[in-house]
Amino acid sequence: MLLLAWIVVFTDPQSLATPLVYGGVTLVVLVTAVAFLVRWEASTKQWAVLLPIIDIFAIIAVREGQPTLGSGLFLVFPVMWLARNFGVLFAAGGVALSTVLLWGAWLTRAEADAAAAFPTLLLLPITLAFIATTSYISARRERSQRVLLRQQASMVESAFDRARVQERLLEVTLDSVEFGVVAFDREGQVSLVNEAHRRSLVEYGSPRTAIMYREMYQADRKTPYPVHNRPFARAVAGQSFENLTVWVGSPDGEQAALSVTSRQLVGPDGERDGGILVLRDVTAELAAISARDSLIGSVSHELRTPLTSIIGYLDLAIDDPNLSDETRRMIGISYENSERLLVLVTDLLLAASDRDSHLPLQFQSTDIGALVAHAIDAARLGAEERSIRIVSEIGPDATASADPVRMRQVVDNLLSNAIKYNRSHGEIRVAVHSTEEAVQVSVTDTGFGIAEADRAQLFDRFFRTESARASAAIGSGLGLSVSRDIVRQHAGDLTVDSEVGVGSTFALTIPREAPAAEPLDQEH
Ligand code: ADP
Repeated sequence: MLLLAWIVVFTDPQSLATPLVYGGVTLVVLVTAVAFLVRWEASTKQWAVLLPIIDIFAIIAVREGQPTLGSGLFLVFPVMWLARNFGVLFAAGGVALSTVLLWGAWLTRAEADAAAAFPTLLLLPITLAFIATTSYISARRERSQRVLLRQQASMVESAFDRARVQERLLEVTLDSVEFGVVAFDREGQVSLVNEAHRRSLVEYGSPRTAIMYREMYQADRKTPYPVHNRPFARAVAGQSFENLTVWVGSPDGEQAALSVTSRQLVGPDGERDGGILVLRDVTAELAAISARDSLIGSVSHELRTPLTSIIGYLDLAIDDPNLSDETRRMIGISYENSERLLVLVTDLLLAASDRDSHLPLQFQSTDIGALVAHAIDAARLGAEERSIRIVSEIGPDATASADPVRMRQVVDNLLSNAIKYNRSHGEIRVAVHSTEEAVQVSVTDTGFGIAEADRAQLFDRFFRTESARASAAIGSGLGLSVSRDIVRQHAGDLTVDSEVGVGSTFALTIPREAPAAEPLDQEH
Protein backbone atom coordinates (compact mmCIF):
# COMPACT_ATOMS: atom_id res chain seq x y z
CA MET A 1 0.00 0.00 0.00
CA LEU A 2 2.91 2.29 0.86
CA LEU A 3 4.56 1.47 -2.43
CA LEU A 4 1.32 2.35 -4.18
CA ALA A 5 1.18 5.64 -2.31
CA TRP A 6 4.77 6.29 -3.30
CA ILE A 7 3.98 5.71 -6.99
CA VAL A 8 0.97 8.01 -6.72
CA VAL A 9 3.14 10.75 -5.25
CA PHE A 10 5.21 10.73 -8.41
CA THR A 11 2.61 10.05 -11.04
CA ASP A 12 -0.53 11.71 -9.78
CA PRO A 13 0.14 13.65 -6.54
CA GLN A 14 -3.29 15.19 -6.83
CA SER A 15 -5.18 12.01 -6.15
CA LEU A 16 -3.41 11.39 -2.86
CA ALA A 17 -5.10 14.50 -1.68
CA THR A 18 -8.56 12.95 -2.07
CA PRO A 19 -9.81 11.98 1.36
CA LEU A 20 -10.73 8.45 0.22
CA VAL A 21 -7.22 7.52 -0.98
CA TYR A 22 -5.52 9.34 1.81
CA GLY A 23 -7.83 7.92 4.48
CA GLY A 24 -7.67 4.40 3.04
CA VAL A 25 -3.85 4.26 2.95
CA THR A 26 -3.64 5.71 6.46
CA LEU A 27 -6.15 3.14 7.73
CA VAL A 28 -4.19 0.26 6.22
CA VAL A 29 -0.97 1.55 7.79
CA LEU A 30 -2.72 1.91 11.14
CA VAL A 31 -4.19 -1.59 10.99
CA THR A 32 -0.80 -3.04 10.11
CA ALA A 33 0.78 -1.18 13.00
CA VAL A 34 -1.91 -2.44 15.39
CA ALA A 35 -1.40 -6.00 14.13
CA PHE A 36 2.31 -5.72 14.92
CA LEU A 37 2.16 -3.83 18.16
CA VAL A 38 -0.65 -5.49 20.05
CA ARG A 39 0.38 -8.53 22.02
CA TRP A 40 -2.25 -10.98 20.88
CA GLU A 41 -3.21 -13.47 23.53
CA ALA A 42 -5.81 -16.18 23.64
CA SER A 43 -8.41 -13.83 25.13
CA THR A 44 -7.85 -10.98 22.65
CA LYS A 45 -7.21 -13.06 19.58
CA GLN A 46 -10.80 -13.02 18.36
CA TRP A 47 -10.67 -9.20 18.08
CA ALA A 48 -7.98 -9.56 15.47
CA VAL A 49 -10.76 -10.46 13.03
CA LEU A 50 -11.59 -6.75 12.89
CA LEU A 51 -8.26 -5.93 11.28
CA PRO A 52 -8.79 -7.63 7.89
CA ILE A 53 -12.40 -6.35 7.87
CA ILE A 54 -11.16 -2.80 8.37
CA ASP A 55 -8.57 -3.48 5.65
CA ILE A 56 -11.36 -4.42 3.23
CA PHE A 57 -13.09 -1.09 3.88
CA ALA A 58 -9.80 0.79 3.51
CA ILE A 59 -8.91 -0.91 0.21
CA ILE A 60 -12.38 -0.28 -1.23
CA ALA A 61 -11.98 3.37 -0.18
CA VAL A 62 -8.62 3.67 -1.98
CA ARG A 63 -10.09 1.97 -5.02
CA GLU A 64 -13.03 4.33 -5.07
CA GLY A 65 -10.77 7.35 -4.53
CA GLN A 66 -8.57 6.39 -7.46
CA PRO A 67 -9.98 3.47 -9.54
CA THR A 68 -7.13 3.55 -12.05
CA LEU A 69 -4.60 2.44 -9.46
CA GLY A 70 -5.99 -1.10 -9.50
CA SER A 71 -5.79 -1.33 -5.73
CA GLY A 72 -8.84 -3.64 -5.75
CA LEU A 73 -6.37 -6.53 -6.12
CA PHE A 74 -5.19 -5.83 -2.60
CA LEU A 75 -8.47 -7.36 -1.39
CA VAL A 76 -6.72 -10.68 -1.83
CA PHE A 77 -4.69 -10.08 1.37
CA PRO A 78 -7.46 -9.49 3.92
CA VAL A 79 -9.55 -12.25 2.33
CA MET A 80 -6.60 -14.65 2.66
CA TRP A 81 -6.03 -13.45 6.22
CA LEU A 82 -9.65 -14.16 7.14
CA ALA A 83 -9.71 -17.54 5.38
CA ARG A 84 -6.47 -18.76 6.98
CA ASN A 85 -7.17 -17.69 10.52
CA PHE A 86 -10.84 -17.28 11.25
CA GLY A 87 -12.65 -20.28 9.80
CA VAL A 88 -15.03 -20.91 7.00
CA LEU A 89 -17.65 -18.34 8.07
CA PHE A 90 -15.24 -15.43 8.07
CA ALA A 91 -13.67 -16.68 4.84
CA ALA A 92 -17.06 -16.54 3.12
CA GLY A 93 -17.89 -13.31 4.99
CA GLY A 94 -14.71 -11.63 3.71
CA VAL A 95 -15.54 -12.50 0.11
CA ALA A 96 -19.16 -11.45 0.54
CA LEU A 97 -18.21 -8.17 2.21
CA SER A 98 -15.72 -7.34 -0.55
CA THR A 99 -18.29 -8.17 -3.24
CA VAL A 100 -21.06 -6.17 -1.62
CA LEU A 101 -18.80 -3.16 -1.13
CA LEU A 102 -17.47 -3.35 -4.69
CA TRP A 103 -20.91 -3.60 -6.19
CA GLY A 104 -22.39 -1.08 -3.77
CA ALA A 105 -19.72 1.50 -4.61
CA TRP A 106 -20.21 0.86 -8.31
CA LEU A 107 -23.96 1.23 -8.06
CA THR A 108 -23.72 4.47 -6.10
CA ARG A 109 -21.22 5.83 -8.58
CA ALA A 110 -23.48 4.78 -11.49
CA GLU A 111 -20.99 5.93 -14.04
CA ALA A 112 -21.37 5.95 -17.73
CA ASP A 113 -18.57 3.51 -18.41
CA ALA A 114 -20.27 0.95 -16.24
CA ALA A 115 -19.95 -1.64 -18.93
CA ALA A 116 -16.13 -1.33 -18.84
CA ALA A 117 -16.01 -1.94 -15.09
CA PHE A 118 -18.37 -4.90 -15.29
CA PRO A 119 -15.77 -7.68 -15.98
CA THR A 120 -13.65 -6.54 -13.00
CA LEU A 121 -16.73 -6.52 -10.76
CA LEU A 122 -17.44 -10.10 -11.78
CA LEU A 123 -13.90 -11.47 -11.92
CA LEU A 124 -12.62 -9.97 -8.68
CA PRO A 125 -15.20 -11.70 -6.41
CA ILE A 126 -14.62 -15.02 -8.24
CA THR A 127 -10.87 -14.68 -7.76
CA LEU A 128 -11.38 -13.74 -4.10
CA ALA A 129 -13.69 -16.73 -3.59
CA PHE A 130 -11.12 -19.04 -5.17
CA ILE A 131 -8.30 -17.63 -3.06
CA ALA A 132 -10.41 -17.81 0.11
CA THR A 133 -11.21 -21.47 -0.59
CA THR A 134 -7.64 -22.55 -1.29
CA SER A 135 -6.28 -20.55 1.65
CA TYR A 136 -8.87 -22.05 3.92
CA ILE A 137 -8.15 -25.61 2.75
CA SER A 138 -4.39 -25.27 2.89
CA ALA A 139 -4.55 -23.64 6.32
CA ARG A 140 -6.72 -26.49 7.56
CA ARG A 141 -4.32 -29.07 6.15
CA GLU A 142 -1.37 -27.32 7.75
CA ARG A 143 -3.20 -27.20 11.04
CA SER A 144 -3.96 -30.92 10.99
CA GLN A 145 -0.38 -31.65 10.01
CA ARG A 146 0.76 -29.52 12.90
CA VAL A 147 -1.51 -31.47 15.24
CA LEU A 148 -0.18 -34.74 13.86
CA LEU A 149 3.37 -33.54 14.24
CA ARG A 150 2.69 -32.47 17.80
CA GLN A 151 1.15 -35.86 18.57
CA GLN A 152 4.11 -37.66 17.05
CA ALA A 153 6.53 -35.44 18.91
CA SER A 154 4.81 -36.22 22.18
CA MET A 155 4.83 -39.92 21.35
CA VAL A 156 8.53 -39.79 20.59
CA GLU A 157 9.07 -37.84 23.79
CA SER A 158 7.22 -40.39 25.90
CA ALA A 159 9.02 -43.26 24.13
CA PHE A 160 12.28 -41.54 25.04
CA ASP A 161 11.13 -41.18 28.61
CA ARG A 162 10.26 -44.86 28.76
CA ALA A 163 13.60 -45.80 27.20
CA ARG A 164 15.40 -43.63 29.76
CA VAL A 165 13.52 -45.31 32.61
CA GLN A 166 14.29 -48.75 31.19
CA GLU A 167 17.92 -47.84 30.75
CA ARG A 168 18.14 -46.66 34.32
CA LEU A 169 16.36 -49.81 35.51
CA LEU A 170 18.80 -51.95 33.55
CA GLU A 171 21.75 -50.07 34.97
CA VAL A 172 20.53 -50.42 38.54
CA THR A 173 19.71 -54.09 38.01
CA LEU A 174 23.05 -54.86 36.41
CA ASP A 175 24.87 -53.02 39.16
CA SER A 176 23.11 -54.96 41.87
CA VAL A 177 23.67 -58.47 40.50
CA GLU A 178 26.56 -60.59 41.70
CA PHE A 179 27.95 -61.59 38.32
CA GLY A 180 30.00 -59.46 35.95
CA VAL A 181 28.49 -58.10 32.75
CA VAL A 182 30.41 -56.44 29.92
CA ALA A 183 28.57 -55.22 26.82
CA PHE A 184 30.21 -54.09 23.60
CA ASP A 185 28.98 -52.64 20.31
CA ARG A 186 29.56 -53.84 16.77
CA GLU A 187 32.97 -52.16 16.60
CA GLY A 188 34.04 -53.92 19.78
CA GLN A 189 33.87 -50.71 21.84
CA VAL A 190 32.75 -51.41 25.41
CA SER A 191 29.41 -49.79 26.16
CA LEU A 192 28.74 -51.12 29.65
CA VAL A 193 30.70 -52.61 32.55
CA ASN A 194 28.71 -53.39 35.66
CA GLU A 195 29.70 -52.83 39.27
CA ALA A 196 30.28 -56.50 40.13
CA HIS A 197 32.80 -56.80 37.30
CA ARG A 198 34.65 -53.64 38.37
CA ARG A 199 34.89 -54.93 41.94
CA SER A 200 36.17 -58.27 40.72
CA LEU A 201 38.76 -56.56 38.50
CA VAL A 202 40.17 -54.68 41.46
CA GLU A 203 40.08 -57.77 43.68
CA TYR A 204 42.19 -59.76 41.24
CA GLY A 205 44.85 -57.17 40.52
CA SER A 206 43.54 -55.07 37.61
CA PRO A 207 42.62 -51.38 37.62
CA ARG A 208 38.96 -50.52 38.14
CA THR A 209 38.83 -48.81 34.78
CA ALA A 210 40.15 -51.85 32.91
CA ILE A 211 37.82 -53.99 30.84
CA MET A 212 39.38 -57.38 31.39
CA TYR A 213 41.73 -58.94 33.90
CA ARG A 214 45.41 -58.37 33.41
CA GLU A 215 46.15 -62.06 33.99
CA MET A 216 44.09 -64.98 32.80
CA TYR A 217 45.01 -68.64 33.12
CA GLN A 218 43.85 -71.97 31.78
CA ALA A 219 42.50 -74.90 33.82
CA ASP A 220 45.93 -75.65 35.36
CA ARG A 221 45.83 -72.10 36.85
CA LYS A 222 49.30 -71.20 35.60
CA THR A 223 49.38 -71.43 31.78
CA PRO A 224 48.42 -67.95 30.59
CA TYR A 225 45.65 -67.63 28.04
CA PRO A 226 46.97 -66.46 24.67
CA VAL A 227 45.74 -62.91 24.17
CA HIS A 228 43.79 -63.64 20.96
CA ASN A 229 42.08 -66.61 22.64
CA ARG A 230 40.84 -64.76 25.70
CA PRO A 231 37.08 -64.65 26.18
CA PHE A 232 36.72 -60.95 25.40
CA ALA A 233 38.77 -61.18 22.20
CA ARG A 234 36.76 -64.19 21.08
CA ALA A 235 33.44 -62.52 21.88
CA VAL A 236 34.40 -59.36 20.00
CA ALA A 237 35.45 -61.55 17.07
CA GLY A 238 31.86 -62.77 16.95
CA GLN A 239 32.05 -66.10 18.79
CA SER A 240 29.34 -67.33 21.12
CA PHE A 241 30.32 -69.77 23.83
CA GLU A 242 29.00 -71.03 27.10
CA ASN A 243 30.59 -71.63 30.48
CA LEU A 244 34.17 -71.22 29.40
CA THR A 245 36.16 -71.57 32.60
CA VAL A 246 39.14 -69.27 33.11
CA TRP A 247 41.25 -68.54 36.16
CA VAL A 248 42.07 -64.97 37.09
CA GLY A 249 44.46 -63.52 39.65
CA SER A 250 48.13 -64.22 40.07
CA PRO A 251 49.21 -67.89 40.53
CA ASP A 252 51.18 -66.78 43.61
CA GLY A 253 48.24 -64.99 45.16
CA GLU A 254 44.52 -65.45 45.35
CA GLN A 255 42.82 -66.87 42.26
CA ALA A 256 39.22 -67.23 41.18
CA ALA A 257 37.56 -69.40 38.58
CA LEU A 258 35.19 -67.56 36.27
CA SER A 259 32.65 -69.18 34.05
CA VAL A 260 32.34 -66.92 31.01
CA THR A 261 29.44 -66.93 28.56
CA SER A 262 29.35 -64.89 25.37
CA ARG A 263 26.18 -63.95 23.53
CA GLN A 264 26.03 -62.05 20.24
CA LEU A 265 23.28 -59.51 19.57
CA VAL A 266 21.62 -59.10 16.20
CA GLY A 267 20.46 -55.62 15.14
CA PRO A 268 17.17 -54.84 13.35
CA ASP A 269 19.06 -55.00 10.04
CA GLY A 270 19.94 -58.64 10.75
CA GLU A 271 23.62 -57.74 11.15
CA ARG A 272 25.70 -58.61 14.20
CA ASP A 273 25.31 -55.71 16.62
CA GLY A 274 27.83 -56.28 19.41
CA GLY A 275 27.19 -58.62 22.28
CA ILE A 276 27.64 -59.27 25.97
CA LEU A 277 29.93 -61.27 28.20
CA VAL A 278 28.65 -62.65 31.48
CA LEU A 279 31.28 -63.66 34.03
CA ARG A 280 30.23 -65.78 36.98
CA ASP A 281 32.51 -66.66 39.89
CA VAL A 282 32.43 -70.46 40.12
CA THR A 283 35.40 -70.94 42.45
CA ALA A 284 33.25 -72.33 45.25
CA GLU A 285 31.28 -74.56 42.88
CA LEU A 286 34.44 -76.00 41.34
CA ALA A 287 35.91 -76.57 44.79
CA ALA A 288 32.73 -78.38 45.90
CA ILE A 289 32.62 -80.55 42.77
CA SER A 290 36.25 -81.45 43.03
CA ALA A 291 35.86 -82.18 46.77
CA ARG A 292 32.88 -84.44 46.06
CA ASP A 293 34.60 -86.23 43.20
CA SER A 294 37.80 -86.70 45.11
CA LEU A 295 35.77 -88.12 48.01
CA ILE A 296 33.93 -90.52 45.71
CA GLY A 297 37.23 -91.32 43.98
CA SER A 298 39.15 -92.02 47.15
CA VAL A 299 36.33 -93.95 48.83
CA SER A 300 35.75 -96.16 45.82
CA HIS A 301 39.46 -96.60 45.37
CA GLU A 302 39.84 -97.62 49.01
CA LEU A 303 36.91 -100.04 48.63
CA ARG A 304 38.27 -101.70 45.53
CA THR A 305 41.39 -103.15 47.14
CA PRO A 306 39.66 -105.09 49.95
CA LEU A 307 36.86 -106.07 47.57
CA THR A 308 39.25 -107.53 45.04
CA SER A 309 40.87 -109.45 47.85
CA ILE A 310 37.48 -110.76 49.09
CA ILE A 311 36.53 -111.86 45.56
CA GLY A 312 39.91 -113.58 45.09
CA TYR A 313 39.57 -115.55 48.34
CA LEU A 314 35.92 -116.44 47.72
CA ASP A 315 36.97 -117.69 44.27
CA LEU A 316 39.60 -119.89 45.89
CA ALA A 317 37.30 -121.03 48.67
CA ILE A 318 34.55 -122.10 46.31
CA ASP A 319 36.89 -124.62 44.71
CA ASP A 320 37.66 -126.32 48.08
CA PRO A 321 36.45 -129.96 47.68
CA ASN A 322 35.74 -130.26 51.43
CA LEU A 323 32.86 -127.79 51.29
CA SER A 324 29.33 -128.97 51.80
CA ASP A 325 26.91 -128.07 49.02
CA GLU A 326 25.10 -125.64 51.27
CA THR A 327 28.30 -123.75 52.16
CA ARG A 328 29.35 -123.71 48.50
CA ARG A 329 25.97 -122.21 47.59
CA MET A 330 26.36 -119.52 50.25
CA ILE A 331 29.91 -118.72 49.17
CA GLY A 332 28.62 -118.55 45.56
CA ILE A 333 26.03 -115.98 46.54
CA SER A 334 28.64 -113.94 48.44
CA TYR A 335 30.92 -114.15 45.42
CA GLU A 336 28.20 -112.88 43.03
CA ASN A 337 27.27 -110.02 45.30
CA SER A 338 30.89 -109.03 45.81
CA GLU A 339 31.25 -108.90 42.03
CA ARG A 340 28.20 -106.66 41.76
CA LEU A 341 29.72 -104.41 44.38
CA LEU A 342 32.96 -104.29 42.42
CA VAL A 343 31.09 -103.22 39.26
CA LEU A 344 29.40 -100.38 41.15
CA VAL A 345 32.60 -99.23 42.79
CA THR A 346 34.42 -99.30 39.45
CA ASP A 347 31.66 -97.21 37.86
CA LEU A 348 31.89 -94.65 40.64
CA LEU A 349 35.63 -94.43 40.30
CA LEU A 350 35.27 -93.94 36.57
CA ALA A 351 32.70 -91.18 36.98
CA ALA A 352 34.85 -89.38 39.54
CA SER A 353 37.94 -89.52 37.37
CA ASP A 354 35.91 -88.40 34.35
CA ARG A 355 34.76 -85.30 36.16
CA ASP A 356 38.12 -84.57 37.61
CA SER A 357 40.35 -84.84 34.64
CA HIS A 358 38.46 -83.07 31.86
CA LEU A 359 40.72 -85.08 29.62
CA PRO A 360 41.26 -83.54 26.24
CA LEU A 361 40.24 -86.12 23.65
CA GLN A 362 42.89 -87.73 21.48
CA PHE A 363 41.31 -87.33 18.06
CA GLN A 364 42.53 -89.59 15.31
CA SER A 365 41.09 -91.08 12.17
CA THR A 366 39.07 -94.02 13.53
CA ASP A 367 37.25 -96.81 11.71
CA ILE A 368 34.01 -96.73 13.67
CA GLY A 369 32.77 -99.86 11.84
CA ALA A 370 35.74 -101.92 13.05
CA LEU A 371 35.46 -100.41 16.52
CA VAL A 372 31.81 -101.48 16.76
CA ALA A 373 32.62 -104.98 15.43
CA HIS A 374 35.23 -105.45 18.18
CA ALA A 375 32.81 -104.22 20.82
CA ILE A 376 30.20 -106.73 19.60
CA ASP A 377 32.74 -109.57 19.80
CA ALA A 378 33.55 -108.62 23.37
CA ALA A 379 29.86 -108.41 24.32
CA ARG A 380 28.86 -111.67 22.69
CA LEU A 381 29.77 -113.82 25.70
CA GLY A 382 27.58 -111.84 28.05
CA ALA A 383 24.75 -111.90 25.50
CA GLU A 384 24.96 -115.66 25.08
CA GLU A 385 24.63 -116.17 28.81
CA ARG A 386 21.15 -114.69 28.46
CA SER A 387 20.54 -116.32 25.07
CA ILE A 388 20.45 -112.95 23.33
CA ARG A 389 21.31 -112.77 19.65
CA ILE A 390 23.37 -109.85 18.34
CA VAL A 391 22.79 -108.95 14.70
CA SER A 392 24.96 -106.33 13.10
CA GLU A 393 24.78 -104.34 9.93
CA ILE A 394 27.97 -102.39 9.44
CA GLY A 395 28.08 -100.14 6.41
CA PRO A 396 31.30 -99.38 4.50
CA ASP A 397 33.58 -96.39 4.98
CA ALA A 398 32.57 -95.40 8.49
CA THR A 399 35.74 -93.53 9.30
CA ALA A 400 35.56 -90.45 11.49
CA SER A 401 37.91 -88.33 13.49
CA ALA A 402 37.35 -89.59 17.05
CA ASP A 403 39.01 -90.70 20.26
CA PRO A 404 38.93 -94.52 19.81
CA VAL A 405 39.24 -95.35 23.53
CA ARG A 406 36.39 -93.04 24.57
CA MET A 407 34.22 -94.08 21.62
CA ARG A 408 34.69 -97.73 22.49
CA GLN A 409 33.65 -96.90 26.06
CA VAL A 410 30.38 -95.44 24.71
CA VAL A 411 29.61 -98.38 22.41
CA ASP A 412 30.45 -100.88 25.19
CA ASN A 413 28.06 -99.06 27.49
CA LEU A 414 25.22 -99.10 24.96
CA LEU A 415 25.78 -102.81 24.26
CA SER A 416 25.96 -103.73 27.93
CA ASN A 417 22.70 -101.82 28.58
CA ALA A 418 21.05 -103.54 25.61
CA ILE A 419 22.01 -106.90 27.15
CA LYS A 420 21.20 -105.97 30.75
CA TYR A 421 17.77 -104.48 30.02
CA ASN A 422 16.78 -107.06 27.37
CA ARG A 423 14.60 -110.09 27.87
CA SER A 424 16.13 -113.60 27.70
CA HIS A 425 16.14 -114.93 24.13
CA GLY A 426 15.86 -111.35 22.94
CA GLU A 427 17.74 -109.70 20.14
CA ILE A 428 20.09 -106.76 19.65
CA ARG A 429 20.54 -105.01 16.31
CA VAL A 430 23.61 -102.88 15.84
CA ALA A 431 23.82 -100.71 12.75
CA VAL A 432 26.59 -98.39 11.53
CA HIS A 433 25.68 -95.96 8.77
CA SER A 434 27.61 -93.10 7.37
CA THR A 435 26.87 -90.06 5.28
CA GLU A 436 29.24 -87.54 3.79
CA GLU A 437 29.35 -85.52 7.00
CA ALA A 438 28.57 -87.93 9.83
CA VAL A 439 28.72 -91.47 11.15
CA GLN A 440 25.81 -92.98 13.06
CA VAL A 441 25.79 -96.02 15.33
CA SER A 442 22.45 -97.35 16.56
CA VAL A 443 21.81 -100.11 19.07
CA THR A 444 18.28 -101.51 19.15
CA ASP A 445 17.12 -104.01 21.73
CA THR A 446 13.97 -105.98 22.43
CA GLY A 447 13.96 -105.11 26.12
CA PHE A 448 11.33 -103.62 28.39
CA GLY A 449 11.72 -100.14 26.96
CA ILE A 450 11.77 -96.77 28.70
CA ALA A 451 8.62 -94.82 29.61
CA GLU A 452 8.25 -91.36 28.08
CA ALA A 453 8.42 -89.70 31.51
CA ASP A 454 11.79 -91.32 32.27
CA ARG A 455 13.40 -90.38 28.98
CA ALA A 456 14.08 -86.79 30.01
CA GLN A 457 16.16 -87.93 33.00
CA LEU A 458 17.81 -90.88 31.36
CA PHE A 459 21.09 -89.06 30.83
CA ASP A 460 21.23 -87.60 34.34
CA ARG A 461 23.93 -88.87 36.62
CA PHE A 462 22.78 -91.68 38.95
CA PHE A 463 19.34 -91.95 37.33
CA ARG A 464 17.92 -95.46 36.97
CA THR A 465 14.38 -96.30 35.94
CA GLU A 466 12.01 -97.96 38.34
CA SER A 467 12.04 -101.17 36.30
CA ALA A 468 15.85 -101.18 36.14
CA ARG A 469 16.05 -100.88 39.92
CA ALA A 470 13.52 -103.66 40.32
CA SER A 471 15.40 -105.94 37.91
CA ALA A 472 18.50 -107.95 38.71
CA ALA A 473 20.60 -105.79 36.38
CA ILE A 474 23.51 -104.18 38.17
CA GLY A 475 24.05 -100.53 37.47
CA SER A 476 24.92 -97.17 38.93
CA GLY A 477 23.04 -94.87 36.54
CA LEU A 478 26.30 -93.28 35.38
CA GLY A 479 26.97 -94.99 32.06
CA LEU A 480 24.62 -92.99 29.84
CA SER A 481 25.57 -89.66 31.38
CA VAL A 482 29.28 -90.30 30.79
CA SER A 483 28.54 -91.64 27.29
CA ARG A 484 26.62 -88.59 26.24
CA ASP A 485 29.34 -86.28 27.58
CA ILE A 486 31.87 -88.11 25.44
CA VAL A 487 29.68 -87.98 22.31
CA ARG A 488 29.06 -84.28 22.81
CA GLN A 489 32.76 -83.66 23.15
CA HIS A 490 32.93 -85.10 19.64
CA ALA A 491 30.36 -82.41 18.62
CA GLY A 492 27.81 -85.17 18.17
CA ASP A 493 24.79 -86.34 20.11
CA LEU A 494 23.35 -89.42 21.75
CA THR A 495 19.59 -89.86 21.51
CA VAL A 496 17.05 -92.45 22.51
CA ASP A 497 13.84 -93.72 21.02
CA SER A 498 11.84 -96.30 22.89
CA GLU A 499 8.52 -98.06 23.22
CA VAL A 500 7.55 -99.65 26.49
CA GLY A 501 7.34 -103.43 26.16
CA VAL A 502 8.86 -103.41 22.66
CA GLY A 503 12.39 -102.12 23.07
CA SER A 504 14.70 -99.15 22.77
CA THR A 505 17.06 -97.69 20.22
CA PHE A 506 20.05 -95.62 21.27
CA ALA A 507 21.65 -93.72 18.41
CA LEU A 508 24.92 -91.83 18.51
CA THR A 509 25.94 -89.53 15.70
CA ILE A 510 29.32 -87.85 15.35
CA PRO A 511 30.64 -85.63 12.57
CA ARG A 512 33.44 -87.04 10.44
CA GLU A 513 35.60 -83.98 11.08
CA ALA A 514 37.09 -83.30 14.51
CA PRO A 515 35.28 -80.40 16.17
CA ALA A 516 37.05 -77.08 16.78
CA ALA A 517 38.41 -76.40 20.22
CA GLU A 518 35.18 -74.95 21.68
CA PRO A 519 33.46 -78.08 22.95
CA LEU A 520 36.44 -78.73 25.17
CA ASP A 521 35.77 -75.45 26.89
CA GLN A 522 32.26 -76.42 27.74
CA GLU A 523 31.48 -77.46 31.24
CA HIS A 524 28.69 -79.82 30.22
P1 ADP B 1 23.13 -98.24 34.51
O1 ADP B 1 22.90 -99.15 33.36
O2 ADP B 1 24.44 -98.43 35.17
O3 ADP B 1 21.99 -98.20 35.47
P2 ADP B 1 23.04 -96.15 32.56
O4 ADP B 1 23.37 -94.69 32.69
O5 ADP B 1 23.77 -96.91 31.53
O6 ADP B 1 23.24 -96.76 33.99
O7 ADP B 1 21.50 -96.24 32.29
C1 ADP B 1 20.62 -95.48 33.08
C2 ADP B 1 19.26 -96.12 33.13
O8 ADP B 1 18.66 -96.05 31.86
C3 ADP B 1 19.29 -97.57 33.46
O9 ADP B 1 19.32 -97.76 34.84
C4 ADP B 1 17.99 -98.02 32.85
O10 ADP B 1 16.92 -97.75 33.73
C5 ADP B 1 17.84 -97.18 31.63
N1 ADP B 1 18.29 -97.84 30.41
C6 ADP B 1 19.49 -97.69 29.81
N2 ADP B 1 19.58 -98.44 28.69
C7 ADP B 1 18.38 -99.06 28.58
C8 ADP B 1 17.83 -99.99 27.62
N3 ADP B 1 18.54 -100.41 26.55
N4 ADP B 1 16.57 -100.43 27.83
C9 ADP B 1 15.86 -99.99 28.88
N5 ADP B 1 16.32 -99.14 29.81
C10 ADP B 1 17.57 -98.69 29.67
